[in-house]
This record gives sequence, C-alpha cells and structure tokens, in this order.
Amino acid sequence: MTAPASGAAPLDPAVPDVFAGTLAELTWYEVERAARDGAVLLWAFGVIEQHGPHLPTGTDVYLPSARLRDVRGLLADRGVPALIVPAYYWGVNVVSGSFPASWGVRPELMEQVMADLLTGMAKDGFRHVFCFSGHGDALHNRTVHAGVRAGRARSEADVSFVLEPELVERLGLDPDDPALTVHASAAAPSPPGEVDVHAGRWETSMMMHSHAGLVREDVRPGLVPTGHGPEQLAVWRRGYDDARATTPLGYFGDPAAASRAEGERHHRTTAELAADAIVARLAARG
Ligand SMILES: [Zn+2]
Repeated sequence: MTAPASGAAPLDPAVPDVFAGTLAELTWYEVERAARDGAVLLWAFGVIEQHGPHLPTGTDVYLPSARLRDVRGLLADRGVPALIVPAYYWGVNVVSGSFPASWGVRPELMEQVMADLLTGMAKDGFRHVFCFSGHGDALHNRTVHAGVRAGRARSEADVSFVLEPELVERLGLDPDDPALTVHASAAAPSPPGEVDVHAGRWETSMMMHSHAGLVREDVRPGLVPTGHGPEQLAVWRRGYDDARATTPLGYFGDPAAASRAEGERHHRTTAELAADAIVARLAARG
C-alpha cells in the first residue's frame, strides 16, 4: 500500500469499493469451489454516462451493483448460493451520446466480449448466469440480449437477461424467449402524465438510498422538474443532439422530489422481484 497522492480525496467509507461483494475479492480456489457447489452468477451491465448535475457518471454501475448485493443475500436465504461478477461498465450510449463523460462501444464489440466471458464462466462449471442492466438505453439493452444469446449459443450454460416486462415490451422482445428471465413489474409510481426516466425522481431516490455520499445535495433540491411528456420522450430517445436539446441539464424527470425512503422501497422491491424470478427459473430448469 502506498499513501494517496497529495491532494487525492480520501476514500469515503460510505461508498462501497467497485469490487465490493464480487468474486474479484475471492481466490480462484474459492471461485472453483463455488462453481462445484452449484453457485449461480449474477452480472450487471452498466455504462459510464452523464446523470445530470447531481449524480455521478457511474450511477448505472453503482445502482445495479447495490441491487445484486441484495439479490445475493435474498438468494442465500433460500438456499441458492450466488457469486457476483464484477460489473461490466463499457456499454452503449445513444441517448447521452452528445454529453461529456458518456462514452460507448460499438454493440458488436460488447456482444463479443460478453460471449467470450460467458464461455469462460461456463467452462469453469457455472451452469446459470443471470445478467442485469443498469442502463435504460434501448440499444444497450438490445446488446445485452444479443450477448446473452451469443453466450447461450457458444456454451452449455443457461444464461439469461433478467428484466422487467416494461423493458421487454419497449425492446419488442418475446417474453417467452429462453434468453430472458422476466420478473414482475416494479414500475415506480409517478403522477399521471409526468415522465421520469433519467436521473429524475426514481433514479435519484435510489442513489440517495444506496450511495448518498455521491449525490450532490447542494444542487439537487434546486433542480426544476423537466415537466416533459411522452412527445418529448420520443424526441429524447432519438439520442445524441436531440436528447441534449430536450434536456440540456442532462436529467429527465424530477430529481428534487426524490427521497431516500422511496429509493429504499424501490431498491428492496426490485431485489425481491429479481430473486423470486431467479428461484422460479431454477425450479423450472434445475
Ligand atoms: Zn441511469
């Protein structure tokens, strides 16, 4: 260990290390034994992306990582051992593509990286890999689906993409696709007509619950709700300059209305729904 360079911020003990709870903390002996004992793998796919003036660019990596730590605990309570794969964070950015700090890779590259790594996990004896997304971009999620399918085609492992019915519908996927594990809906309640999709009320609430130290509380309460509806959402989803023109500050929704309690509720619900769906799939497929 060397001392941090002069001027470096001290590590915040309230913010988990990026590898916290993942198999990167284990030795290969421990990983091998877990595979032999029938552990399933949980893997999050996020991206580095702008999240307004109040949330960090790693939001879509922090949130699914926190969720998977809880999913793993819920599975353990039901006798299902699980390991968490370190989060994948070089995803696809269309919507935020014109903002700084929102880098993406070509979908075909991400798909191939996924297929290679999934093949390696299967070779080690892991029979079930559950992939999650932390990022709403449609092309990113189509790419996770494509990578899962490529992993299934190249290995014996039962790889699947765990997602909510709203995303299945938005992507135009078949809910009976064996590459999907569809859990029950956990749609965050928002007032009718108010669209809250990016760094707004629900996502900010989640960060206030799991990573409060990274939320810029000097800025958040003063942010004005975008007040956009479905029409602006359609323009925003075209991405790049259209998205930046629709939401110049980078958020779409109402971050000032966020609360830690709402984040905690939503976090718990989504972890439970995912654990339920995983247990059901394992029961059905063995
Ligand atoms: Zn996000």
